[in-house]
Amino acid sequence: MKKAIFFDRDGVLIKAKVKSGKPFAINDNKNIEFTTNEICLFKKLKLQGYYLFLFTNQPDVARGIVSKNIVDIINSKVAKRYLLDDVFVCYHDDIDNCLCRKPKDGLIITAKEKYDLNLEKSFVIGDRWRDIDAAENSKCKSILIDHKYKEKKPKGYQFKSKSINEAIRFILMS
Ligand SMILES: [Mg+2]
Ligand SMILES: [Zn+2]
Repeated sequence: MKKAIFFDRDGVLIKAKVKSGKPFAINDNKNIEFTTNEICLFKKLKLQGYYLFLFTNQPDVARGIVSKNIVDIINSKVAKRYLLDDVFVCYHDDIDNCLCRKPKDGLIITAKEKYDLNLEKSFVIGDRWRDIDAAENSKCKSILIDHKYKEKKPKGYQFKSKSINEAIRFILMS
């Protein structure tokens, strides 16, 4: 069985737009700001046997704010840059009551079945409570990148970091 890192997108691998202390996804594939240039850290994770996955809620598709096509273009750019193995996306909003919108574990379970993962040896890296709760619901370990948003506080993570680089270094040493 293999292990994996599930990276959230906005606020983790790319910068989110923060308004009134709350983060928002970008909706423009021409202005992506990446959060790190240290691609070697991602290579090191792969050498330690981790699959690298994007797992992201993109409810603005259901809300009609951004097209699925634009979201998919942004995701492929992110995946290509960080050498990610696969991308798992929820395009729904709460009202759709799907099984994939974080904090539900649907995206992680889909990945587990596709790649035969040991989730107890896998990590989630996220910046919001939905990411951390999805980790807890699927028995993954989790790391919070704390941007101190003014919203519900995540609980139950293994480590709190200030940056994606610090989060990855924690995994490499654990
Ligand atoms: Mg996020
Ligand atoms: Zn969904």
